[in-house]
Amino acid sequence: MENKEYCSEGEREKIETQLLILGGGPSGFAAAIYAARAELAPTLLTGMALGGQAATTDMIENYPGFPEGINGVELGDLLLKQAEKFGTNIVYDSITSVDFSGYPFRLCTYDKEYIAKAVVISTGANPNHLNVPGEKEFTGKGVSYCGTCDGWFFKGKKVVVVGGGDSALEEAMFLTRFATSVTVVHRRDQLRAGKLLQNRVMNNKKINFIWSSVVEEIVGENEVTAVRLRNRVSGEETIFETNGVFIFIGHTPNVEIFNDQLKLDENKYIEVDRYMRTSIPGVFAGGEVADHRYRQVVTSTGMGAAAAIEAIHFLEENQEV
Ligand code: NAP
Repeated sequence: MENKEYCSEGEREKIETQLLILGGGPSGFAAAIYAARAELAPTLLTGMALGGQAATTDMIENYPGFPEGINGVELGDLLLKQAEKFGTNIVYDSITSVDFSGYPFRLCTYDKEYIAKAVVISTGANPNHLNVPGEKEFTGKGVSYCGTCDGWFFKGKKVVVVGGGDSALEEAMFLTRFATSVTVVHRRDQLRAGKLLQNRVMNNKKINFIWSSVVEEIVGENEVTAVRLRNRVSGEETIFETNGVFIFIGHTPNVEIFNDQLKLDENKYIEVDRYMRTSIPGVFAGGEVADHRYRQVVTSTGMGAAAAIEAIHFLEENQEV
């Protein structure tokens, strides 16, 4: 089926490439390192968020090979340098629309059209927002989506964590390093997070819970001073004083530009098989755009590398290299 949304009017410079990689996070760079070392001279479009979500993490302590941990921006920089060193063409640009209905594949940016014989999609995911009054206004002034990035600023202060999944509880634990108290506001009376983590959190004296409640508004003047909460059972509204609001209510994968062209799973992530193959032969995906479950830097780099290896096989089998 032809993609009617593909490219808007206007002439574009056409660029042919064996392999086009979308996304400048760990998965995309890992794919680029493997493809470049196979002498495919891949082109990698970084998109808007260079380094991906990893770049918003102050200290990554569970990425193998870095016993002292590594800063997220620094890791992104090292991955980029490694991809470049082996011959990846890195382009600081974003794809706006794609057409996977024919072959080779066609992908558009604002002023260029890429013609690619294989594609690896590593466009990642973004944290979900509550979409309540005050959230946008106080982002960076008390509202955060990354405890590891911003926790330090709340030394000796009170913070609220919103969410009941693994991310919320892990980050709540982390925030106890800085904050005097961490209050987890969850919309139900049962947590979604794993039992082991739940037990650790329950045993941490700095962490307490407000159950069956939602944040209706984030209140403040120049900085956050409180949240307005509503109990979903009684309907009662309360003002809870806090200096910070950390929001961990899941992620949305960056799949919009692929609209109806690729099969998505029930969580709206790109569906891939164990060989990182999407529903279109020659189009592969890796990292958080295709991973609802693990969402770790190490799993993203692994998926990116696997996607590139499969793309290399695809091109060989189709005698494109
Ligand atoms: P998640 O498991 O989807 O949890 C999201 C939480 O936010 C849920 O508790 C949900 O409530 C709540 N929520 C969603 N929308 C909300 C809204 N509009 N208002 C208020 N609350 C809302 O997301 P996650 O914690 O980011 O984890 C995603 C995946 O990564 C999971 O599979 C998780 O196991 C994995 N993960 C693993 C690790 C680890 O293994 N170390 C660490 C982090 C994440 P309900 O419970 O009511 O739905």
